[in-house]
Amino acid sequence: MSTINSVMQETRVFPPSAETVARATISGMAAYEALCKEAEADYSGYWARLAREHVSWKKPFTQSLDESEAPFYHWFADGTLNVSYNCLDRNLENGNADKVAIIFEADDGKASKTTYRELHAMVCKFANGLKARGIGKGDRVVIYMPMSVEGVAAMQACARIGATHSVVFGGFSAKSLQERISDAGAVAVITADEQCRGGKSLGLKSVVDEALGMGGCESIHTMVVYRRTGAAIAMQEGRDIYLDELIAKQPAECEPEWVGAEHPLFLLYTSGSTGKPKGVQHSSGGYLLHAILTMKWTFDIQPQDTFWCTADIGWVTGHTYIAYGPLACGATQIVFEGVPTYPDAGRFWQTIEAHKVSVFYTAPTAIRALIKASEVDPKVAPRNYKLDSLRLLGSVGEPINPEAWMWYYEQIGGSRCPIMDTFWQTETGGHMITPLPGVTPLVPGSCTLPFPGIQAAIVDETGHDVEWGKGGFLVVKKPWPSMIRNIYGDPERFKKSYYPDDLGGRLYLAGDGAMRDAKTGNFTIMGRIDDVLNVSGHRMGTMEIESALVANPLVAEAAVVGRPDELTGEAICAFVVLKQARPSGDAAKAMTKALQDWVAKEIGPIAKPKDIRFGDNLPKTRSGKIMRRLLRALAKGEEITQDVSTLENPAILEQLRHSA
Ligand code: ATP
Ligand code: MG
Repeated sequence: MSTINSVMQETRVFPPSAETVARATISGMAAYEALCKEAEADYSGYWARLAREHVSWKKPFTQSLDESEAPFYHWFADGTLNVSYNCLDRNLENGNADKVAIIFEADDGKASKTTYRELHAMVCKFANGLKARGIGKGDRVVIYMPMSVEGVAAMQACARIGATHSVVFGGFSAKSLQERISDAGAVAVITADEQCRGGKSLGLKSVVDEALGMGGCESIHTMVVYRRTGAAIAMQEGRDIYLDELIAKQPAECEPEWVGAEHPLFLLYTSGSTGKPKGVQHSSGGYLLHAILTMKWTFDIQPQDTFWCTADIGWVTGHTYIAYGPLACGATQIVFEGVPTYPDAGRFWQTIEAHKVSVFYTAPTAIRALIKASEVDPKVAPRNYKLDSLRLLGSVGEPINPEAWMWYYEQIGGSRCPIMDTFWQTETGGHMITPLPGVTPLVPGSCTLPFPGIQAAIVDETGHDVEWGKGGFLVVKKPWPSMIRNIYGDPERFKKSYYPDDLGGRLYLAGDGAMRDAKTGNFTIMGRIDDVLNVSGHRMGTMEIESALVANPLVAEAAVVGRPDELTGEAICAFVVLKQARPSGDAAKAMTKALQDWVAKEIGPIAKPKDIRFGDNLPKTRSGKIMRRLLRALAKGEEITQDVSTLENPAILEQLRHSA
């Protein structure tokens, strides 16, 4: 019962090209191994060296890792810095003042550019404006903004004055927003009149008003409103102020608030795919260090690059790889307001072509959706676009099925661009297990090896190491600089969730099942621990069966869950989205049989789904992750009593309930 069995074999390997190796900062496996050895020999010293080299400190730290309050770890605690200084002022001093920091690609296709000098001035005015409203160090500020330069500036302005921001994704409901404002005890909300998505404008300020009207948000004294569309909205005298008015008379210089390295830069609530969202609290110094290091090592970011991370600033990916990492490295990046399917499903490819994007970072859910779209409408297929500016691709958010990986590699990357399949979490702050472009032979569906210094491992339920080739719980054996510091206001939940006593209390439990390849040691994420299937005593992750289904040319997406079964303990139930229209009646029966046979042939009879249900889509979080806990309830025929407030498309539950 202690291990998870692997049922699939991946044999394709893509070693780094000579060109990539030559260009990369970390060049060759020997360089990678040397870093790992350095970390092993002197763990605390390794991170201290990097923190001195990559972060600008106001007052240098004298201590590195402090374990005296474990598992509440501290890093570089007696050093002081300002994250916004590192992202902006440093670029003005380094000769990047007139370099484009952000290319803003609006929903309607208009593009505009903001240089580092301009962004610095905007952030300073914003910061001064917030200070004029009495907001300062230690206050929590909720940001409920569309994807915009102003959204990034709002985060940077908070960082500049030492206020802790909590960004809430603009697609969340008033109720979700109210819960987060209340949990954080925020003093201010920064929002916009409206947001533009897919050719439509949607109210944002009105949602904040509704949230505040629900009660429990009495701590809010200020609401700043960015005019995105200029729509007429209700403003409450004394509390609400337009951004342009807030900053109108403010100077374009603002002395940064120098904070301790452990000062909370932000809170961010997790996406909620496994339960009630947790207010993940991050530090300033350690977090910034990892944002910078991963930009430099994983993406090998260099001055001539144009970087594009398609995440929203409402997710951690949009924090580390939009609001902080690229700026701290002086990169030029795209900030994209729209959606991948507007005006059509070629939008990503058209945008890459228009701005000559060289590094592109997106999620498997988007890739799968665009594969389906390009088969339905060949006009939006990537081959119709000029994508030769690309040199590196990235994936994050879910395991990427090997067939989706291959499509991404061939169709988008022209079989030329390495794919960084980056495993990490809101809690980890940045990449944990990922290839490095100049180092790692790539294997589709595997996130390969730990980032240098990260002590990732696989253990059984008693916390003992599991041998390579066998599945188990993914853990991190040592604290690392960008790790979660606490669950806001709930240290007990922090300990229970991440440092459970069953594992001895000193291993960080990621919550995912994983295994290491018996020969290479490459990691493969097999799915959430909560989702592991147990069929006739075989414990299997969801990922492999889903990948086998997605490997069928007719299947666009699949999610697999277990339901109780008298004979086998648990039976596999698959929810499938086809590239063609959803079948019913006899056609559905025939398709079910064909897919059962397919899985039996691909991985073996043990993995064959007992039931298959067809839907137009799957229940997903707003960040695009499949919510298997809801599918589990459907598979059992249960009423859904769980929290569905973070669901993207609640109507799909009804369709899937009736598709049995
Ligand atoms: P909650 O914790 O509330 O359930 P969440 O885990 O979906 O939400 P995130 O922190 O955004 O919130 O997601 C981290 C999770 O996403 C990981 O634990 C893992 O399950 C999955 N994940 C992220 N990147 C990858 C990847 N490259 N390969 C496989 N899984 C990934
Ligand atoms: Mg999680």
